[in-house]
Amino acid sequence: NLDERVEIRGNDELSNLGSAFNLMITKLAQVEQQRKDFVANVSHELRTPLSAIKLLAESLLHQEDVKAETYREFLQDIDTEVDRLNKIIENLLALVDIDKGKLELDYQITYVNYLIENVIHSLKPLADNKQIEMVFYEREKIHIKLDQIKIQQALTNIIHNAIKYTPNGGKIEISLYPEYEDVVIKIEDNGIGIPEESLPYIFERFYRVDKARARSTGGTGLGLAISQQIVVLHQGKIEVASEVNKGTVFYVRLPKEVRVPN
Ligand code: ADP
Repeated sequence: NLDERVEIRGNDELSNLGSAFNLMITKLAQVEQQRKDFVANVSHELRTPLSAIKLLAESLLHQEDVKAETYREFLQDIDTEVDRLNKIIENLLALVDIDKGKLELDYQITYVNYLIENVIHSLKPLADNKQIEMVFYEREKIHIKLDQIKIQQALTNIIHNAIKYTPNGGKIEISLYPEYEDVVIKIEDNGIGIPEESLPYIFERFYRVDKARARSTGGTGLGLAISQQIVVLHQGKIEVASEVNKGTVFYVRLPKEVRVPN
């Protein structure tokens, strides 16, 4: 029973042990609550596209003499929802791998400038679609050890967000520079921004500031959770600053020297 606590009297070793025990129970209760929330969230997130698919299929089945054009339209919508389900499941599996510690990093000495250029290049069509300009500022050539596929994934999520949450004609500036013991990748957009009260939650699984907007942009609410886990596995961290209607800055900090486990 995670509600029970031991009674603490006095200040001796035994009561210290009691306090430690109570603290542990509190932590366990928190973990249990997070687990329950997560399962509830997953169920909800999977149910939303499934309900949409069911609704679309049923309305086709219950109509007589459906025009070919209408069929196409509905099937197109069903296809979009199936893509969405796939994406959620793919993201969930990525998170499960990280949680299991199964995700072993494949450290390779990497020319970071080139890796970032690749990410920008792969997202360029999405930015072009919205006439968003992406600029890359690189002060120097940086080589560090990292898992290329994973860091590429982490940066793709963040830069893709910058595109998604910046209106047409906006600008995204990406900078790479060393700072003390770290290499910093800064991603700055002049988009819609994130309200201050939402900032503490954006790295949580399934958290979205605006669910409706995220849905229309195809977001799953898992992207930043994945990016953060990947960066933390690299012994780095992600910081964020934002102002509504002004824009958002993400800082990805990776240590120059990783302590690579043997
Ligand atoms: P999603 O798949 O919804 O984009 P993420 O985990 O990647 O999920 O991001 C969580 C939420 O953080 C987003 O739904 C959005 O509300 C907010 N967000 C992330 N990046 C930005 C950004 N560059 N500008 C504004 N809001 C952002």
